[in-house]
Amino acid sequence: LSDGRRRTPAILGGGRAFDRDVPVGQMYFPTWQRYEEALRGVFERQWYTNHGPLAREAEERMADRLGVRHAICVTNGTIGLMMAAKALELAGRVITSSFSFVATAQAMTWAGLEPVFADVSLATHHMTADTATAVLDDTVCAVHPVNIWGGTCDPAEFEAFGSQHGLPVYFDSAQAFGCTVGGRKVATFGSLEVFSLHATKILGTAEGGCVTTDDDDLAERLRNIRASYGTHAQVTVPVTLNGRFSEAQAALCLLALDEFDERIDHNRTTRSIYRSVLDTVPGARLLEPPNVAMSNEQYAVVEIDEESYGLGRDELLRALKAEGVNARRYFYPGVHRTLPYSETLPLPDLPNTDLLSRTVLQLPIGALVDEGDARIIAELVGEFHESAELLRGADGR
Ligand SMILES: *Cc1c(COP(=O)(O)O)cnc(C)c1O
Repeated sequence: LSDGRRRTPAILGGGRAFDRDVPVGQMYFPTWQRYEEALRGVFERQWYTNHGPLAREAEERMADRLGVRHAICVTNGTIGLMMAAKALELAGRVITSSFSFVATAQAMTWAGLEPVFADVSLATHHMTADTATAVLDDTVCAVHPVNIWGGTCDPAEFEAFGSQHGLPVYFDSAQAFGCTVGGRKVATFGSLEVFSLHATKILGTAEGGCVTTDDDDLAERLRNIRASYGTHAQVTVPVTLNGRFSEAQAALCLLALDEFDERIDHNRTTRSIYRSVLDTVPGARLLEPPNVAMSNEQYAVVEIDEESYGLGRDELLRALKAEGVNARRYFYPGVHRTLPYSETLPLPDLPNTDLLSRTVLQLPIGALVDEGDARIIAELVGEFHESAELLRGADGR
């Protein structure tokens, strides 16, 4: 590739650039030795779940790392979002972003709430107080901004918006573990924040989630909702479920916390290689994580401008896929165009969300992408721009 020879793209019948499929997710695994060591204790204690010693230690370490009074670890991020709505005793409609993973809105539906989709800014891909104001009315009971791409909305702006309108603000920070905004850590904004610890996220525990808050009463309600017996003081809650964090999840969480800074460094290197190559490719721009002083570098988001790049986003994805590069379109379509919302709600006017869902893609990043891989992937994006005329409309069949 680097020697200047033009190769035939795999989608036009050439050999593949990769003999494996390169995924987009983080997929960090501790070494087998460390994993075995951590799980041996679970085996020796014969203690699988029910807020065991590792779960308690993981919660302490998480709270410490995030600089927040309470970190309540749960089965997965989606359950954390459902618990958050119940702990805040919300009823009615909640403003949120449609440019998100479906779980943001689906968790509301499980909690008996109706999402009100606000548009996002084209520059940051996030909701703003202005886009929220555009959909605000008397039926709205809360605001739920979503922090994506290892960046954030402007969370302080939303705290001010919440106090101005007397509305609780809680964040879907599933993708923002370890980020800071100004001098503050993500985890401490609004009434509470919800993180995902899914394997594709930077702090992966196979499945997992964490709800953070500085509010002691809210924390007690969350703990009492998490399991039908309290692990702390008993307080009255509207409903309970099983959102427990198992000892196996907690063991992975502790290992992941040990390696967290190295993971960020690895991702940062991958992103800087993408940036240096894509800077020379017209119409393919690597998005910088918006609003954060420090990012977890979790995603490599590229905006494709079809006119200057020469190919549409989906044509580029097909050409990459043929090479073994499983780049993905996140988020497509906007959640407002998915069931049940596409059938139960009037179609909202979200031009920026619709445009981004057609033009944005994720390049592979995480444990399974090394520097050489990143360079090859970025160079493929450059090559496909050069060969755009040949590739237009190619479907590899
Ligand atoms: C991953 C994710 C979720 C869901 O978290 P799970 O742990 O997979 O349930 C919710 N919202 C956003 C924005 C996410 O990226």
